[in-house]
Amino acid sequence: MADKERVGFVGLGIMGKHMVRNLIKAGYSLTVYDVVATAMEEVAADGASPASSSKEVAEKAPTVITMVPDSADSEAAILGPDGVLEGASRGSVVIDMSSIAPGTSQKIASACEAKGVDFLDAPVSGGEPGAIAGSLAIMVGGKKQVFDRYVGLLNAMGASIVLCGGYGAGNTTKLANQIIVAANIEAVAEALVLAKKAGLDPNVVFQAIKGGLAGSNVMNAKAPMMIAGDFTPGFRIKLHQKDLHNALLTGKELGVPLPVTSLIQQMLGSLMNDGKQQIPRLTRRLFIPGGNLQTITKSHLARILAEENNLNGTQAKDLVDAFFQALAESIIQGEKIEALGFGVFRVKETNPKNSRNPRTGEAVLVPARRKVMFKPGKVLKGALMKARE
Ligand code: NAD
Repeated sequence: MADKERVGFVGLGIMGKHMVRNLIKAGYSLTVYDVVATAMEEVAADGASPASSSKEVAEKAPTVITMVPDSADSEAAILGPDGVLEGASRGSVVIDMSSIAPGTSQKIASACEAKGVDFLDAPVSGGEPGAIAGSLAIMVGGKKQVFDRYVGLLNAMGASIVLCGGYGAGNTTKLANQIIVAANIEAVAEALVLAKKAGLDPNVVFQAIKGGLAGSNVMNAKAPMMIAGDFTPGFRIKLHQKDLHNALLTGKELGVPLPVTSLIQQMLGSLMNDGKQQIPRLTRRLFIPGGNLQTITKSHLARILAEENNLNGTQAKDLVDAFFQALAESIIQGEKIEALGFGVFRVKETNPKNSRNPRTGEAVLVPARRKVMFKPGKVLKGALMKARE
């Protein structure tokens, strides 16, 4: 049994904050952390206690759940400096509920085992509505005896909890889930457009086919929204693209061709390039031409953006990511980077191609030591303009 008194939770975004609320409702007391302070304030109002790092969360709670965007975030939150493992003691458990690459789950599991800490990868399906209702489908990878000990805790957030295999199996199952969801959304959209262009009422078509072989949960959830022209995002395009990217990566490792996944990943990339991501106003505070050199972490930048622009944590983090993407683009397009230099970015100036991901073609910028130094000036302003576009 999990210690009913203390559960730690790291990552309080669209999903995490509702999962925290359900754990509180189930009687657990929560210690929480997010790199964006405003995200912690939201759940503090519901009774969670904010901590100053993932390490502190693990020092206070023997059971720590993480719910962050991607593999690199899970690694940073669990294995990184001030991360969960630094604060965890022998006999405690880390349950990573983020959707990440299965190989990264296995890497994190090994690091946990080396410290005598138990680990489960336990990604979810069901979206924000499922997180709110506590009805998520939870796919778990790890040891059976550990699963048995924590299934009660997972029950506070989900309606279906299935042990799928050893470490990484939860995330492999989640990748299978995402392939099916993405392909289904695309097929429903394509079919309804065809029906509409042929002069049919798409709602009638939906009603006619939803009980047949083509019917699906995806169709029931998405078709009415498509027909009503309601394209409010429930799951960020960027995250779906991330999942398909991880699926393709895993397929490559296993020698499994995934042609439909690959096509849809490209389509999502086009949507992102078409500006179908929310990029609100950027901060001015840090970027005064002629100002002093600043040293700042990405999370600090996200916090300032959130405060200045009245954004939630996810929006601020998206904006920081977009900003770094724009910086990376500036660099690989050959714009001067000396003003940003100081050995801070691990970008090889002699070979600009090193800063483009060879698989996705996406520009990548890796800050050294998780610190970024900005020297305000023209180059930075150029990057900001691009991020704003
Ligand atoms: P989100 O971006 O809204 O939230 C992630 C949160 O993690 C943010 O608040 C961010 O500030 C925080 N964070 C990032 N790195 C951190 C770190 N190192 N330490 C502490 N906090 C950190 O994302 P989300 O929609 O809540 O999704 C979380 C995970 O769940 C993702 O892997 C996603 O793919 C998966 N998922 C999402 C949905 C959905 O519908 N949103 C559905 C199923 C699964």
